[in-house]
Amino acid sequence: MSGHSILYLGRGEFAADYLSELESLSCCTMLTRSVSLELPDDAAFMVDIVLLEVGPAIAQSGHSLGSIIQSLGPYPVIALTQKAHEHRGIAAIGAGAEAYICVDDITIEEQATVFEHAVQRSRLKRRLSETDMTVLSILKDINDGVIVVDIAGHVLDINPAARSILALGQRTYPDPTWEQTFCCIDKSGNNYRNSADLPLVRARNGEKFAGQVAIYRTPEQPDIVLSLNGQGLFDGNRELIGGVITFRDMTELTRKTSELEKRAQYDELTGLANRGLFIEQLARAVGRSQRKSAALATLFIDLDRFKSVNDTLGHDVGDALLREVATRLRQNLRIGDFTGRWGGDEFVVCLEDFGEASNAGAAAQKLLLVLSEKYQLGDSEVYATPSIGIAMFPDAGDNATRLIKAADIAMYEAKKRGGDRFQYYSHALNTKLEQREELEIGLRHALVRDEFVLHYQPRIDVASGRLIGLEALLRWQHPRFGLLPPARFLPILESSGLIHSAGEWVIAAACRQLAGWQRRFELPDLSIAINLSPQQLLQDRLVQAVAKSLADTALDPGCIELEIGDGDIVRKRNSELETLRGLRKLGVRLSLDHFGTRDVSFESLDNGFIDSFVLDQSLISDVEDNNSHQRIVRAAIAMAQGLDIEVAAEGVETVTQLEFLKSCNCDLAQGFLISKPMQPEKVAAILRSEIAGTRLLARGMP
Ligand code: C2E
Ligand code: MG
Repeated sequence: MSGHSILYLGRGEFAADYLSELESLSCCTMLTRSVSLELPDDAAFMVDIVLLEVGPAIAQSGHSLGSIIQSLGPYPVIALTQKAHEHRGIAAIGAGAEAYICVDDITIEEQATVFEHAVQRSRLKRRLSETDMTVLSILKDINDGVIVVDIAGHVLDINPAARSILALGQRTYPDPTWEQTFCCIDKSGNNYRNSADLPLVRARNGEKFAGQVAIYRTPEQPDIVLSLNGQGLFDGNRELIGGVITFRDMTELTRKTSELEKRAQYDELTGLANRGLFIEQLARAVGRSQRKSAALATLFIDLDRFKSVNDTLGHDVGDALLREVATRLRQNLRIGDFTGRWGGDEFVVCLEDFGEASNAGAAAQKLLLVLSEKYQLGDSEVYATPSIGIAMFPDAGDNATRLIKAADIAMYEAKKRGGDRFQYYSHALNTKLEQREELEIGLRHALVRDEFVLHYQPRIDVASGRLIGLEALLRWQHPRFGLLPPARFLPILESSGLIHSAGEWVIAAACRQLAGWQRRFELPDLSIAINLSPQQLLQDRLVQAVAKSLADTALDPGCIELEIGDGDIVRKRNSELETLRGLRKLGVRLSLDHFGTRDVSFESLDNGFIDSFVLDQSLISDVEDNNSHQRIVRAAIAMAQGLDIEVAAEGVETVTQLEFLKSCNCDLAQGFLISKPMQPEKVAAILRSEIAGTRLLARGMP
């Protein structure tokens, strides 16, 4: 470093030792001392640096520090103070000094940097245009950090906001290598490959930029994320002489944003990855697997009978169960494998690097055991078993979506086989999927293409054998597969949400048909039973649809019986109860279908909602040989009579069954013995003979 001509102004209050030491250093070629606080009139020498001793003498001089520094004109002023009075140095900077030195606390290296910096900075200042000077002095006081560098990258100015954001001490002036390390990490956490992209380098190269996000990293503190703007500094002749950057601390904002982004990617209930994130992760895993030619398996897991946990123990226990399943999944995966919640009670897992295909089966078996163990959820002990589908890459699919779909199909098969098992995906299963997909697409058009039809199954009064009503049963006339029963398409209608419009069609068509028959055959009491899916109760459009059909047909509402398929009224949600109340207000009858297959509380039967129930086929089909079923049917009918509820039995196939029902005083019966479900034209023929006095069961009745 070249030596400087130095002028010392002061009364020698504390700087004497320091000055003598300075004289022996190479950074000082000439030291002139003056006890006056002003520039000597005969200052016929070139001064590089003025050292100003800021002690009590200044205060006694009658001049302010600012006016003294001002009077020193263009020369860079460095204030001298002591460690114990460092605030005087800071005040001097505020008053226009370029730097300050604590004479009892400075190393030779620091000494050199401070001098060098002060000289450079004052040179730059001299070259800056008036306007740039004003802009810089304004920038100094703003809340954004400001750093000024010269053309060689020396840091010449750091404003207080910058010092505070970067947690730099008051006296730190970084050396020229700093521009290579300052914010050298981009927002993705990677080092800038090209040094021309570094913010300080860009600015001193005269580039104007805004919103560069970069990370300031030092060993002493956590990363600071900065949003930086920059531009070149020019002298009066428009010659580039340095650069200035301004920046803001974005650490907190970035943290919050990334937290929000993270939250959007994770399932709130279980904390597992959600669908979107899982697909992303799986797609990456598929890429890895492709490159390494390594095995990969996707597991689709669905809990068996989860719905009944929700129905019988309530949604809180259902939620707790899902959380616990997620925990067990997480705890039982190997490092590198990952899992997510697909929705409802469905979970997905990706296994990587497991060697042979059979190992994926072993992993699934392990999960099967772990998930089947008892769940202690508050006061409730719950048992749940999963059905697991396994899809291997690349046989089952060569991309993430395809793999998940394949695993889903395999899961569906596992479930069909009774659940509590795993099943590998195969191409044979795929054919089934393709059919299901074709059905799903076809169903979307079935309504407009008029492909739904209703068949009707007669219901008779057991005591007299008279036909008193019919149950409307939905069929789909599929253009390729022919007439399909509800079992083939109802689950798809329900899972796709199409059940609402299809259900409304059923209500309208059945009411229209009933009104036609009532008028034509003068049977004003003839009734119709219409099946409802559980989802329909969740929306109040059901009440509106029924009201509209009643208004359109002028039917007596008492002739319409709506059959509710799933269980217990008292466990229903408020919105469902609201719908039921709305229906009751219309005057239609409500019935519990499949009675005897689900838990139903007494309260559900005796709360004024229910007019009748339908004993399930499974109870009737073996009632001849099954004593237990005989007792249940007898007890159910006796109870219904006590509660003034009507009972129908369905699935009656033999005379013996019918006789048994008669002996129990069952009100109504329905089944193949009496008649299979049939098209409307056939019903008309039966109604005609009915009014002519010929009973449907004339032959079979005792
Ligand atoms: P469900 O309400 O229990 O209807 C009776 C089912 O038992 C009908 O099947 C009928 O064909 C069948 N069945 C009647 N008598 C006998 C018999 O003696 N033996 C045997 N083995 N079966 C008999 P289907 O038409 O296939 O309907 C199945 C289920 O689909 C219905 O059960 C009902 O829950 C549902 N479903 C039918 N139509 C609709 C609808 O329009 N909307 C809704 N949501 N569900 C419907
Ligand atoms: Mg029914």
